[in-house]
Amino acid sequence: MKDAVYTLPVKEKFHLPEGMIYLDGNSLGPLPKGTNERLAAMVSEEWGSHLITGWNRDGWMAQPERVGNMVGRLIGAPEGSVTMGDTLSVKVYQALSAALKMRPNRRVILSDSGNFPSDLYMAQGLIQQLGQGYELRVVAPEDVAMSMDDTVAVAMITQVDYRTGRMHDMNAITKAAHDAGAVMLWDLAHSAGAVPVDLVGSNCEFAVGCTYKYLNGGPGAPAFIYASTDVAKTMDAALAGWLGHDAPFAFEPDYRPAPGIGRMRVGTPPVMQMTALEHALSVWDNVDMTDIRAASIRLCDLFIKEVEARCPDLTLVSPRNANERGSQVSFAFGNGYAAMQALIARGVVGDFRAPNIMRFGFTPLYIDDDDVVAAVDVLEDVLKNRRWDTPEYKRKARVT
Ligand SMILES: *Cc1c(COP(=O)(O)O)cnc(C)c1O
Repeated sequence: MKDAVYTLPVKEKFHLPEGMIYLDGNSLGPLPKGTNERLAAMVSEEWGSHLITGWNRDGWMAQPERVGNMVGRLIGAPEGSVTMGDTLSVKVYQALSAALKMRPNRRVILSDSGNFPSDLYMAQGLIQQLGQGYELRVVAPEDVAMSMDDTVAVAMITQVDYRTGRMHDMNAITKAAHDAGAVMLWDLAHSAGAVPVDLVGSNCEFAVGCTYKYLNGGPGAPAFIYASTDVAKTMDAALAGWLGHDAPFAFEPDYRPAPGIGRMRVGTPPVMQMTALEHALSVWDNVDMTDIRAASIRLCDLFIKEVEARCPDLTLVSPRNANERGSQVSFAFGNGYAAMQALIARGVVGDFRAPNIMRFGFTPLYIDDDDVVAAVDVLEDVLKNRRWDTPEYKRKARVT
């Protein structure tokens, strides 16, 4: 039996500002303790004293593979099948481009209207670059499986919807894609570190994701990219950078791809960011994703129950059924932007997504039942007493 207040034993590993309840780890994870020290050592000892020798001596050049394996353990990817670098948008472009090359006689990229705009924009940009009649087909999330047909080259789907938290069934959709002869590309931006993922079990060809959300790698942390072992041997990397070359330091005039996922590397890795991320990933050493999932469901269910009982102005827009939901809960409210600013001013940090969604991420590494109830206390006060109804909270900032 678990205690009524159940906390995973890692909350003390994070720096959480006094008096703040942080429900935005789905957007930017908090600072893991020890990051300052690790980065300071990297800068002064590795960069400062070792200089160029750091690439070998401190393992900087191998870091994308090393960190890729740490991420891989959280998403069901085998050793050597994940590498790190660039941003998620760039990795979407590479994976999508590689996937299209695998189906040269097909012209459709299938995605859904719940996808994050950058994924759709990257597809639109790639299509423009390619010409040749390529097309992006965007359907409603519930229509994805039934929209697979023999024109679809690649299904590019984000598992968890950034606005509503609605979660796709990875195995079922991958199977539908394969039954139609399409290549499957998953975006795990809101899945990695949030829900258990079994990439090998899903049988998908490609997956991508970012590490500054649930993986706490810090603002600008590098993205990850996965390809199944077979696909990685023959895929086209799209961006033929020198560090994706089979022998970068042979400085050959012609590009020759590295044998596996390594070819998805492009240029010099961001060593400082990668060092912060590598430290952040150590938090997961003794954490089981099934424990995270169970705790996340409990926190989300509790939040929904408390909000619905105490805040009648809000309408749940996330799936009520936990099996269809990631690790966030969203409510619609006409004055959601101002209400979120009022909440943040009182130390409860979520975020707002146009047009009217108040979004709350639940991250059991450092959020517990008490935090959930305390957050709803503040939310109830903000709504009941219209504390959002002031010009100060209605002025839109650049980042919402
Ligand atoms: C957060 C997110 C992004 C952001 O891409 P960056 O290139 O890292 O800025 C892209 N796609 C999805 C699905 C996301 O959730």
